[in-house]
Amino acid sequence: MKLYTTTFNERDTTSVRPASPARSSIFSPSSKSHRRHLCPPPTNSIRRGMSQLEPYEIVIIGGGIIGCTTAYYLSHHPSFIPTQTHITLLEASTHGPAQGASGKAGGLVARWAYPKALVDVSFDEHVRLAREHGGEERWGWRYVGCGSWTGRGVIQTDQGNEGKGYGDALGALGKKGKRRSLEKTLGLEEHLDPKRSAPLRRKKKTGLPDDLLWVSEDLTDSYEPMAGPEETAQVHPYQFTTSMLALAQSRGGVDYVQGKATGIVQVDGKVTGVEYLPGLESPISEIALKKTIPATHIILAAGAWSSTLLSNLPITGTRAHSITIRPPPDAPIAPYVLFTTITLPSPTTHGQRGKRTIIADPEIYARPDGEVYACGPGDDAPLPDTVDDVVVHEEACESVYRHVGAISRELREGTVGKRQACFLPTVTTEGGGPIVGEVEGARGLVVAVGHTCWGICNAPGTARAISELVMGGEITCADLKTLHPSLFL
Ligand SMILES: Cc1cc2nc3c(=O)[nH]c(=O)nc-3n(C[C@H](O)[C@H](O)[C@H](O)COP(=O)(O)OP(=O)(O)OC[C@H]3O[C@@H](n4cnc5c(N)ncnc54)[C@H](O)[C@@H]3O)c2cc1C
Repeated sequence: MKLYTTTFNERDTTSVRPASPARSSIFSPSSKSHRRHLCPPPTNSIRRGMSQLEPYEIVIIGGGIIGCTTAYYLSHHPSFIPTQTHITLLEASTHGPAQGASGKAGGLVARWAYPKALVDVSFDEHVRLAREHGGEERWGWRYVGCGSWTGRGVIQTDQGNEGKGYGDALGALGKKGKRRSLEKTLGLEEHLDPKRSAPLRRKKKTGLPDDLLWVSEDLTDSYEPMAGPEETAQVHPYQFTTSMLALAQSRGGVDYVQGKATGIVQVDGKVTGVEYLPGLESPISEIALKKTIPATHIILAAGAWSSTLLSNLPITGTRAHSITIRPPPDAPIAPYVLFTTITLPSPTTHGQRGKRTIIADPEIYARPDGEVYACGPGDDAPLPDTVDDVVVHEEACESVYRHVGAISRELREGTVGKRQACFLPTVTTEGGGPIVGEVEGARGLVVAVGHTCWGICNAPGTARAISELVMGGEITCADLKTLHPSLFL
């Protein structure tokens, strides 16, 4: 069994178990419009506890953090027996798992994130996973300071052409140029307790902590801590996601298959398989013969692409750009994550400075290996066919670099490493998501989608809940009724 290669070759993937053609269909959800029910969903139908009377064929669609962490929790469930339960993780990218948002996110894990029911389980699970599997070394787990920074930015002449839209992130965004907030701080309103965060403050007017030396104090108007000690942590999202898959595979009974799922097959209201296009070469060839992986349970975890397989899901994607910067070796990069609001002077055109100032709000994450990650706002670029087709806009990456460099000499003088973009899965219905649970009318079809800006934080809670549902018949670690698919589909 190999990681990141097509390991399905020893299994017959070309046929689904025989079914009456009349009753077999590629799953398409009911024609119900996107309505929200007022009462909790009916009890789940997924089945019995894990007495394992029949073998399980579980197919997870999507090798992002939700899919890979779900593979981990299923394979570590007390009832998991490798000879009786087989898990296939199907991923469309030709470059391996975590090529989307899960490999390109900041990596914040916060007790003040949302929704609370999921966060309460997830944060403690992050702590446990890090302790049990050496998360500090393996995926950069650590507690961090986290604050909201407000101040002014100064663009240096050595930061490229000052007049070329440096502050105008909109110029670098999608077709219609709409800027979208990633909305991470929405969870804070009910959580912020000034008394609790007071000891973290520096006794200076700005509130900047003493060890936060990598932003200019002179340019700082204010710094507000977002939470108390040990309430905010971080992981390296790519390392966490790939570690979850590797740990799942180490249990046996877990295969990684590269291919793009094209349909969910069901017979008599019960899932029987996943149709997919094996993608041995990039781009995935439509001419290649479709294959089917038999399934007793399907877990849909395809991030922003989830509604391409279950069209009634109110999920869309928001593209966001990010960069990594390696500061000079002697730079003091203390462990902080900053949500910034930077007022920048207007760009100059033909030597003339315009009148309007520009507000930029990049998020900046110091990482344990000394690298710094920064991301800009979201935009409305259309969702491409697969994660491998995401277009990276150089200008948007350059904007992020100029903005963070405008408040930090250490970042300005650093070397830019990655310039990347990814699609955040967003839920379009009021109240947001994620959406977690079994789909009514499709026994065995479980969705774990729409994690918006908190999927890294909430992956362990989601995955644990799904493992309980599939292996034990019900979710016991949390009350996730408000996230049930019947409220969204
Ligand atoms: C800039 C940015 C910063 C962020 N920072 C944070 C943060 O600090 N903390 C936090 O908690 N969250 C953060 N997030 C949010 C987090 O990244 C997402 O919520 C999370 O990664 C979603 O994980 P996922 O597995 O659902 O989706 P994805 O990571 O998108 O994975 C879905 C996978 O499914 C695959 N797939 C899609 N369609 C198919 C198909 N048909 N067949 C097979 N495979 C398919 C894709 O190729 C992809 O690999 C951030 C997001 C962005 C964009």
